[in-house]
Amino acid sequence: MRFAVLHLPADKWDRPAIFMALRAFHYLFDFHGITEFHLNIAAVPEEAKKFWDTSFRLRKRNFTFRFGASTEGLQPFSAPDFPMYLDGRERIDLNIPEIPGLTDFHVHSPLAFCGENMNIPGAMEMAHCSRVAMLNIAEHSGQLFCTPDTYWNNRFRWQTRRMEDDRSWKYKNIAKNLAGAGRVFGFELDVDEDAVVSGFPSEYLTGYRLGAIHFLKPDLSYEELKADYMRRLDALLTDGIAILAHPFRVFVKRGFAAPEELFGEVAEKLVRAGVAAEINFHAGNRPSAEFTTLMIKKGGKISWGTDSHNLYEVGYLKPHYEFCKELDIDEKLDEVLLSAVPR
Ligand SMILES: [Zn+2]
Ligand SMILES: [Zn+2]
Repeated sequence: MRFAVLHLPADKWDRPAIFMALRAFHYLFDFHGITEFHLNIAAVPEEAKKFWDTSFRLRKRNFTFRFGASTEGLQPFSAPDFPMYLDGRERIDLNIPEIPGLTDFHVHSPLAFCGENMNIPGAMEMAHCSRVAMLNIAEHSGQLFCTPDTYWNNRFRWQTRRMEDDRSWKYKNIAKNLAGAGRVFGFELDVDEDAVVSGFPSEYLTGYRLGAIHFLKPDLSYEELKADYMRRLDALLTDGIAILAHPFRVFVKRGFAAPEELFGEVAEKLVRAGVAAEINFHAGNRPSAEFTTLMIKKGGKISWGTDSHNLYEVGYLKPHYEFCKELDIDEKLDEVLLSAVPR
């Protein structure tokens, strides 16, 4: 059984330390299949316990921890690299090399229905530890004007929204009160069944607009699903977006593969509209290597987004970096990767 050793800080358990360690456990499981962690500390620190336990439960993870491990000769799990040791020997860094203007374009606010423990000051601390220069907070626009029941059951309609369900003022307030260096506030725009995009103009919500297709009509054949997808994509592009979030995830959620036959047409539309395709690894999502390669071949851009609903995810861009390395584009990120920082 493989395991990983982490040389953790023995006493100082502030917010970044708690969530960087949590990120390490999830990363090691997702990309190396590790379920056993050897830690130098004597027990799970009180400050970390509730966050770790809740996250393991939500992600259905059964981890074994061995305490009091020897970490002699191992670098501490701390900035800037956050090294981890597979089987106590092979070093892997949780952080990625420095990338100028590195931006996480997809971070949720505390208003997301599926949020776990998000808050903006905490997100800023995580960005800092992760060498991320800029955060784009992008709340689901569909979740700002209806109830969770209406939203999750795909019954939200911009035209028939009810004022009593409106929470956009709360989002505007968050943006107004917490605007500052290193973050902008934008949207993850939903497009409803009428192909209407919901948006809330505000002088404080001037960050990046991501477009997302989270739902397609029920009871459609595969061919009809593709037509519904293109109809909604066109509406988002007409409304004006900078990034297409998790491009084909909605098909995978419906039990299909990403529709390769749409790759060419979608890439063409995005490139023509100057819209970046998002690389997103959230909750088991995997970007398509073929589609990403096609985007770049056509002269398009990609963006990196964590889709954070938990602080451990903010700035967690290692999977994105590894993905680009595999596609052999890690050397030209300054050219193909969208950044919110002028460079
Ligand atoms: Zn989304
Ligand atoms: Zn999202």
